[in-house]
Amino acid sequence: MAKGKIKVTTENIFPIIKKFLYSDHEIFLRELIANATDATKKLKALSSIGEFKGDIGDDTIEVTLDKKAKTLTVKDRGLGMTEEDVKKYINQIAFSGAEEFVDKFKDQEDAAGIIGKFGLGFYSSYMVAEKVQIITKSYLDESAVIWECDGSPEFSLNKHKKEDRGTEIILYIDDDSVEFLEEARIKTLLDKYCKFMPVAIKFGEKSEWIDNKKGKKDKDGKVEQEEIKVDNIVNNPAPAWTKSPSSLKEEDYNGFYKELYPMNFEDPLFHIHLNVDYPFNLTGILYFPKISANMEVQKDKIQLYSKQVFITDSVEGIVPDFLILLHGVIDSPDIPLNVSRSYLQADGAVKKIASHISKKVSDKLEELFKKDRADFESKWDDIKIFIEYGMLSDEKFAERAAKFSLYKSTDGKYYTMEELTKKITPAQKDKDDKLVYLYTNNVEEQHSFIDAATTKGYEVLVMDTHLTAHLVGKLEQSVENTTWARVDADTIDKLINKDEEIPSKLDDKEKEKIKPVIEEVMPKGKFNVQFESMSETDQPMTIVQPEFMRRMKEMQATGGGGMAMFGGAMPDTYNLVVNTNHPLISKILKEKDKKKQAAITKRTADLALLSQNMLKGEELTKFINQSLELI
Ligand code: ADP
Ligand code: MG
Repeated sequence: MAKGKIKVTTENIFPIIKKFLYSDHEIFLRELIANATDATKKLKALSSIGEFKGDIGDDTIEVTLDKKAKTLTVKDRGLGMTEEDVKKYINQIAFSGAEEFVDKFKDQEDAAGIIGKFGLGFYSSYMVAEKVQIITKSYLDESAVIWECDGSPEFSLNKHKKEDRGTEIILYIDDDSVEFLEEARIKTLLDKYCKFMPVAIKFGEKSEWIDNKKGKKDKDGKVEQEEIKVDNIVNNPAPAWTKSPSSLKEEDYNGFYKELYPMNFEDPLFHIHLNVDYPFNLTGILYFPKISANMEVQKDKIQLYSKQVFITDSVEGIVPDFLILLHGVIDSPDIPLNVSRSYLQADGAVKKIASHISKKVSDKLEELFKKDRADFESKWDDIKIFIEYGMLSDEKFAERAAKFSLYKSTDGKYYTMEELTKKITPAQKDKDDKLVYLYTNNVEEQHSFIDAATTKGYEVLVMDTHLTAHLVGKLEQSVENTTWARVDADTIDKLINKDEEIPSKLDDKEKEKIKPVIEEVMPKGKFNVQFESMSETDQPMTIVQPEFMRRMKEMQATGGGGMAMFGGAMPDTYNLVVNTNHPLISKILKEKDKKKQAAITKRTADLALLSQNMLKGEELTKFINQSLELI
């Protein structure tokens, strides 16, 4: 019988493990099963090189609960440990960093980080157990041993009669951790951390219905069913991302998506299978999910694994910012996963990985675009939000996306930026040779403006995401002498000013005279009255929302940088554009009867408000009633 002291430089590590690592107690199960998985894979590796000649047999890892004895056991059929191994790997190595650990992480709660960094994997079991036993028999022909330690630095190590190869870790669950004796709790944890671990994991049994063995039939002549108990295997040891892309079909990818997100009923739009060996090791599958235009962003949908062991699903700072909107799995043993979040974000390897993923995604998008443009176009409305977000947050991505990002016109055609520019250049340059891109964010509400533009042969683009203001700002800056304007930002002749001046019927003095008359009938402070010399057949008054202020407001609402200077919410600003050549305006000017003058003005302004959907409530009712009286 051997007795000894675990080599710790700090008097007692266990209270520290318990106290400082409280936030993530549950990960002990992941650590133990990951060790069991490692041991099993190592044995297979030894077998494949002829170092182990015996029969591996059934290598299923088994998790069992004994509520009476208050134990949780993880049992594997891996390579096991000799007495020397236990001394070396359990007694010494684990605590080599103890002192450093205590110094550095006293105030930290990031348990996952500390555990990985200091090799406390096995010892994390003391977060939930008052005593732990290891019963293990090595694949090398030696006697089995039992190691036991109750959380003090003393342990015991003795021979044991266990005959089959492998390791059993028995946790005597502490009174304050009895939740881990609940089947449901363990089920949840296995599903969270072990769903795709590479060795089968059994937890209890489940029912299955099969044709009864005697071939008994019911009265309808159908074979009767019989209930049998089978092993309940909780994981899929060979998930799709570990397979070669050429061996997988579309339905396999969609099936795996369902496996990852059982609550998502819609198929993803498409996937990207990542498979990188150099300069780092990374595999995974990313999915573009179907989301609605108003961007119900579901972050934290990408799951991060290290050799099929679940690490985290909050991947901010690890994958490129904009890919947070994607779903799927990334698996890399090269990401230093077990250290804290802030460390991860600053890590050079992580940054490289992020930019690599970004490149892979743009490559794939370009490939899809080139291969089948019609199909790509049919998906565009669903994926544009990801791409716009990517273009805004990642300069490199924006450069690459120039080749495949599309712009949809109001007649349903899709253009690349190059095609679009070529198409509109002849017609949409203004008198200063500036190229004007026109867009709408609401085809129905802005239809009169769209009509005015298309009648002139202009192209109007549908840009209707929350990011539009940011995006057009970026596009404007990236090409000299271009500008973007929403169709309702001004009258069309002002938006693309061709310098074809129509002589005005009103002079400045007359404009000064009519201005207060109009201001009098409009709601206070919301509209600036402006005059424009338009065609007689254009509307007498039009309400427009100037591009610059509107865009600023939108950017502020979606969190644009540098908007803070405006303080609180910016007000909406509108211009009321008066057509100086319309007969009705001349009529208002000439009307001597003040009451009548105000009435005509009000009605003309109401018409403008009405066409902008801005005549509401009582005012609208009044307008309708007056109209009815005319009939
Ligand atoms: P790590 O897994 O990072 O090496 P752990 O504390 O989890 O650190 O485990 C320490 C060592 O104990 C392992 O490297 C391994 O040699 C040994 N070990 C732990 N669990 C098992 C097991 N189930 N079978 C065989 N060896 C094990
Ligand atoms: Mg481990």
